[in-house]
Amino acid sequence: MTTTHSDAANAAQTLAKILRLERQGNFRNRAVVGGLDAYLRRWQAQLRPVVGAPVAYADMDAEQRGKWVADTLARIGDVAPKAPPGEGRASQSAKPPTQPKPPAPSQPQPRAQPKPARKRQPRRDPAPAVPLRLDDDISRLRSVSARAKPRLERLGIQTVRDLIYHFPHRHDDFTNIRTISQLVPGEPQSLIAAVWEVTESVGRGKTKSAQAVLSDHTGNIRVIWFNQSYIKNILKPGMRVIIRGEPKVYLGRLSFQSPDYEIIGGREDDDSGDRGNHQESLQPVYPLTDGLYQRTIRRIVKEALDAALGKVSDYLPDDILRMHDLMPLRDAISRMHHPESAEQAEAARRRLAFDELLMLQLTVAQRRAQWQASGGAIPLRSDDGPLDGFLDSLPYSLTAAQSGALAEILGDMRREIPMGRLLQGDVGSGKTVVAIAALLTAALNGYQAALMAPTEILAEQHFLTAAEMLSALTADAASHAAPAAEVYVSVRMPSREKPLVVGLLTGSLSKRAKDEMHRRIAAAEVDIVIGTQALIQAAVEMPNLALVVVDEQHRFGVMQRNAMRHKSGPPHMLVMSATPIPRSLALTLCGDLDLSTIDELPPGRQPVKTRRVEPSRRHATYDFVRAQIRAGRQAFIICPLVEESEVIQARAATEEYERLSKDVFPDLRLGLLHGRMGFNDKEAVMSRFQDGELNILVSTPVIEVGIDVPNASVMLIDGAERFGLAQLHQFRGRVGRGAHQSYCLLLSDAPGAEARERLKIMERVSDGFQLAEEDLRIRGPGDYMGTRQSGILDMKVARISDQDILLLARKEAARLLTADPDLAREENAPIAA
Ligand code: ADP
Ligand code: MG
Repeated sequence: MTTTHSDAANAAQTLAKILRLERQGNFRNRAVVGGLDAYLRRWQAQLRPVVGAPVAYADMDAEQRGKWVADTLARIGDVAPKAPPGEGRASQSAKPPTQPKPPAPSQPQPRAQPKPARKRQPRRDPAPAVPLRLDDDISRLRSVSARAKPRLERLGIQTVRDLIYHFPHRHDDFTNIRTISQLVPGEPQSLIAAVWEVTESVGRGKTKSAQAVLSDHTGNIRVIWFNQSYIKNILKPGMRVIIRGEPKVYLGRLSFQSPDYEIIGGREDDDSGDRGNHQESLQPVYPLTDGLYQRTIRRIVKEALDAALGKVSDYLPDDILRMHDLMPLRDAISRMHHPESAEQAEAARRRLAFDELLMLQLTVAQRRAQWQASGGAIPLRSDDGPLDGFLDSLPYSLTAAQSGALAEILGDMRREIPMGRLLQGDVGSGKTVVAIAALLTAALNGYQAALMAPTEILAEQHFLTAAEMLSALTADAASHAAPAAEVYVSVRMPSREKPLVVGLLTGSLSKRAKDEMHRRIAAAEVDIVIGTQALIQAAVEMPNLALVVVDEQHRFGVMQRNAMRHKSGPPHMLVMSATPIPRSLALTLCGDLDLSTIDELPPGRQPVKTRRVEPSRRHATYDFVRAQIRAGRQAFIICPLVEESEVIQARAATEEYERLSKDVFPDLRLGLLHGRMGFNDKEAVMSRFQDGELNILVSTPVIEVGIDVPNASVMLIDGAERFGLAQLHQFRGRVGRGAHQSYCLLLSDAPGAEARERLKIMERVSDGFQLAEEDLRIRGPGDYMGTRQSGILDMKVARISDQDILLLARKEAARLLTADPDLAREENAPIAA
C-alpha cells in the first residue's frame, strides 16, 4: 500500500491531537488506547516523516517523554506553545480548559504560575467567620462571587435559607463506576473518561447528531447523541466526563447512544483546583442556570450549610417525629445534600416531603372548613320528573359511571352546604352531559347557573350542545335550536311558565350585545349562562346564581378557582377536568374538593392507534391521511405551536393552511380554525367540518379541548415535541369517538431526549390516568396542571408516589386541627408560623 501525501498529513494531525492530550494527561501514556508505541507502529508508514526512527515511549521517564512529545509536536508544526513570554496561560486558555495541570516539564515557555489569582481578585475581603442567619443575603457568603449572585437569583435564591433548601435533583453515584473494558451491553452503567474527539454527523432525514470518542486507560468507546449536534459545542477534547446510560452494540461495536453526560472536574468558571469531592461517593447534582456550574454551586451550598444549618430549628415536636419515624429537620437537610447512602437520602427526603405535605394539607383543610362554614347555599331539588325527561330524551343512555357521578353531584346540590366537587374523567368519557343535567336542575328549581369554559370555541360548542339537548326535550317544535349565530336559546318547558333561556357570553360579542347580555343576566332573564371564564367572572352579578360549573379545570390556576368562588355568595361548585388526576394527587391538590370519577368510556370506542413519525416520512403521512379521507373519514391537522402570541400563531396557521391546500392536498377540501377568527367564522368552519363538507380541519392548538366530530379518524399533530403529554392526550381524544379505527400521528422534527420519551409514552399508553402518572414522573408534580404559576403546589421534595407520606400528613393535619382548629396553641406556634 502506498502512502499519499495527504494520508501522511492527516496522520500527523491526528498524532498531534494525541500528543496534546498526552501532555494534558501528564505523560502517563494514556492518551491512546494500547499505548503510544503500538499506535506509532500501526501508523509508521504514514508517520515516518515526523517521527523518524522507532521509539520506546513506554520506557521513557516523564521528563524524557515530555521532551520527546515537544520535539515531535514541533516537527509536526504544532504552534501551541508560541505564546509571548510572560503570558504562559494564553496558550492554555485557548484550548479546552481542563483541570489545572502542573506545568509540562519540557514546554518551551516557562509556566511558572499555573494558578494565577485571576478569579480571586474581585472577591470581597476575607469573609466574616461568624455564623450567618438564615435570612441573610447570599452575598454574605464568601463563595458567592459578584458574577454568581445574579445567576443564583435567577434560580430564586436570595437568602442563605434559599440555598440550604436548594436541594440536588439527584446524586451522582461514584460508587459503581466502570472502566471502558468493564462495560457490558444492555445494562445501565457509569463511566468516567476523557473526551478524545467530538464530531457532527448527518444522518438519514438530515438530522444532525454529535459523535464523540471517549477514552480511559482501558480502551475507547464511541458515544452518539442523535439529533443533538449542539453537544459538539459543549464537549471538547481533553474534558473529563461522566457518562450514564446503557451501552449497546451498534455497528458491531459497543457504544453509548444519547446517554446522560456531565462534565466533571472543570469547565472554567473555576480554577480553584477543587477537583470535586470524589472521595464522597454520592455527589449532589443541583439544578443550574446559564453560567452557573455544578462545582460552583456545590461549593456555595456547602458553605451555606456550614455557616447556617445550626440556625434551622425543627417545628415538629419530638413526639410526632418519633411516632412517624421522621428524621430531625437539621439532619434531613444535611442528608438531602450529602447523604452517605441512598437509603439515607431517601429517609431525608421522606422527612422533608412530610413537611411539605403537612403544610399543604393544613392549608387545604382550613380552606375547606371555611368554604363549608360559609353555609347558606341554595338547596336544589332533583327528585321529580323533568330531569328524567331530559335523560330519556338523549340518544343514548348514561354509562354507569356517568350515572354514579351525576347522583353524587345532585346529592350535594340538595344540601345547604355548598358543593365543592371535582368531576374527573378521561377525554371523551362524557362529562358534558352530566354538567348539563346539573345546570338544568338548577334552572328547573328557578335559579341561575353558569358554565365556564377555558376557550371561546369550547364555550360555543357547549352552548350548541346544550341548545340541542334541551331542544330535544321540549314538546314545542317551534322553539328548536336557534340559528348558529344566535346567542340566546329559549326552550319552552311543559313544567314551567316562562321559557328556559340559555345565553352565550364570549369575547366575540359586540359591545352592544354584551351589554344586553349583562342586562338580561342581571334581570334574571337568563337561566343558564355559558361562556368563557374571564367574561363570566367579569360579568354583572347573577342575582339567582345557585350553581357554577367550570369545565377543563386544568387550564385554570387553582387560585382563580378560589377567587371565583367567593364572588356572589356561595354557589354550588362543580369543577371538571379532562386531565385525569391520579387519585393521590387529586387529594393533595384538590383536597378541599370531593371527587367524582367517570372511569369508563361510552361503549363501542376503539383505542386510537398512536405512532411517532420520522420527519423523513412526512409525505408518506400525508398519503395516509389522504387514504383515510378516500375511505370516507376526516382528519385534523394541528399546526406546530408558536409561543409568541395568538396573532402570530394565527398567521402561522394560515400559512400552513395555504401550503397544505395548494401543495399537498389540492384535491381535498380544507378548513382553517384559529383563535383570532370571529364566532361566526369559527362556527361556520366547525359546522362544515361536522357536516362532512370539509375533509381536513387545519387548526392551531385551540382545538385541544372539547371538539366532538365522530367521523374524524386522523389526528395529525405537527411539531408534537412541543406539547406535554396531557395536551397530546387531549388532541388524541378528538378522534376515536365514532365506530372507525382512528389514528394519532405525532410528527416531530427534532425531539430532544425528554420529548422523545414523551412521544414514546404516547405510543404505548392510551389510558389518561396512566399518562398523567407518566407526565408527573417526567415533569414533577409542580408543573402539573399549571399549578406552578399558581403557587399553591410549591412542592420541591414530595412526589406523587409519596402516597403513604401523604396519608400520614393528612392524618396528622386532621389531628392537629381537631385539637386546635386555628393552630392557636402555644405548642403549635412553630407550625402555624
Ligand atoms: P368529555 O368528557 O371529554 O367532555 P364529551 O362530553 O364531549 O366528553 O363526550 C364525548 C362524546 O361522547 C360526545 O360525542 C357525547 O355525545 C358522547 N357520549 C357521552 N355520553 C355518552 C354515552 N353514555 N353513550 C354514548 N355516547 C356518549
Ligand atoms: Mg369536555
